[in-house]
Amino acid sequence: MAEFDNSYARLPERFYTRIAPEPVPAPEIVLRNDALAASLGVADWGAEVFAGNAVPGGATPLAQAYAGHQFGGWSPQLGDGRAVLLGEVATEAGRFDIHLKGAGPTPYSRGGDGRAWIGPVLREFLVSEFMHAAGVPTTRALAAVRTGMTVRRERDYPGAVLTRVAASHIRVGTFQYFTARGDTEAVEILADHVRARHFPEAEGVCGLYRAMIAAQARLIARWMGLGFVHGVMNTDNMAVSGETIDYGPCAFIDGYSPAACYSSIDRFGRYAYEQQPTIAHWNLAQLGSCLVPLAERELGSEAAAVAALTQELEAFPDLYQAQWIAVFGAKLGIAEPGHEDVALVQDLLGLMARDGADFTNTFRGLVDGSARDWMLDREAFDAWQARWERRRSAEAAAAMAQANPAVIPRNHRIEEAIAASLEGDDGKARRLARVLLRPFDLAGDDRDLAVPPREEERVTRTFC
Ligand code: AMP
Ligand code: MG
Ligand code: MG
Repeated sequence: MAEFDNSYARLPERFYTRIAPEPVPAPEIVLRNDALAASLGVADWGAEVFAGNAVPGGATPLAQAYAGHQFGGWSPQLGDGRAVLLGEVATEAGRFDIHLKGAGPTPYSRGGDGRAWIGPVLREFLVSEFMHAAGVPTTRALAAVRTGMTVRRERDYPGAVLTRVAASHIRVGTFQYFTARGDTEAVEILADHVRARHFPEAEGVCGLYRAMIAAQARLIARWMGLGFVHGVMNTDNMAVSGETIDYGPCAFIDGYSPAACYSSIDRFGRYAYEQQPTIAHWNLAQLGSCLVPLAERELGSEAAAVAALTQELEAFPDLYQAQWIAVFGAKLGIAEPGHEDVALVQDLLGLMARDGADFTNTFRGLVDGSARDWMLDREAFDAWQARWERRRSAEAAAAMAQANPAVIPRNHRIEEAIAASLEGDDGKARRLARVLLRPFDLAGDDRDLAVPPREEERVTRTFC
């Protein structure tokens, strides 16, 4: 049985609005994560709970308040406009938020309908569970259900709710919400809450900031290693726990281009693949500015606070670089990757970019010897391979297969599954859910899912 222990609901009332999910006409499970349900002690939950029609005992549903920089522009009032946090479940593996996304309007809906449709719900389910299986910190997906409602976007779509599980849903924008209101007391309460929940070892405000910075460096490097483009890295979509959150217009790169950008609303490529570390750094700067009054109390003056926090922030590029080379070094089977390997990785990526080589299959091809086949300029690749041979180690080679997935949630496959589900056939989505949970060992009859899109199948724009 799930044991709710809702620490966020015990924070002051200005942190949220208590609101129950709004019931829907016809709950129907599309995908359910049985293993996750068992580990959370909620194996008995069904469509009625996942759709918001039945609130489980011990839950204290609420919508969280937050703010955020959206595409660099400041929005002082966002918040859960279409989601409710049911509460937190304590397990052996830690404490987890259980959250219904698409559960109806809230005081933070700002004119939106409070709902989600089946397409983005399936995408988030499939991509987030793949990310978890691939070793990337992320929110998880417990269930995707149809609601029996119609949701109006560019056209009418079947409504859906995603049950999301996360270490927490506290965002950079949660800090910003209180800072913008001059509510230093709330910032302090929030910081204490985040420390207790995620970073109990962190000492002082600077130590807490350092831990949050390190978590993002670790996260973004892992995105880069999978060719993942988040697509909407607004500060309200950056979880301070260091988990990937909000799979709106996200996409994975097929043919490699560092400038890859898919989101239909990202007109200037602000959140393109290669921009992600820079944007994370910028978002962390916004977080740091929220912590100034707290650091000032510890350090005695605003100048000392700013200097100390700035020093932490300036460590981000090096922390990120160290994570990046660890990720790509593992992909190349290099035992102790270091500074001297950066050029080796960059040069491979440079060749891949020139040839538009498939990101996933080229790296996977380093494991089985087929990488060369994905390149156009094979002589250039051979020269690179000769350099690589001198650095790769036999011991690290076995781990390479666990660092380079054989299959990823390819954009065209996700779209294909969504299209089928719109026709009432969830078989493709179920197949993806099964295969993507084991991305490092692909069975023979699932190999079609590793094939890059043909020109006419390529997804160049994503919508959320
Ligand atoms: P996002 O771009 O998904 O991070 O969402 C930004 C803000 O818009 C958040 O406050 C969301 O809760 C809100 N929002 C997104 N879609 C809807 C919707 N359909 N109804 C109400 N609020 C929404
Ligand atoms: Mg969001
Ligand atoms: Mg979103």
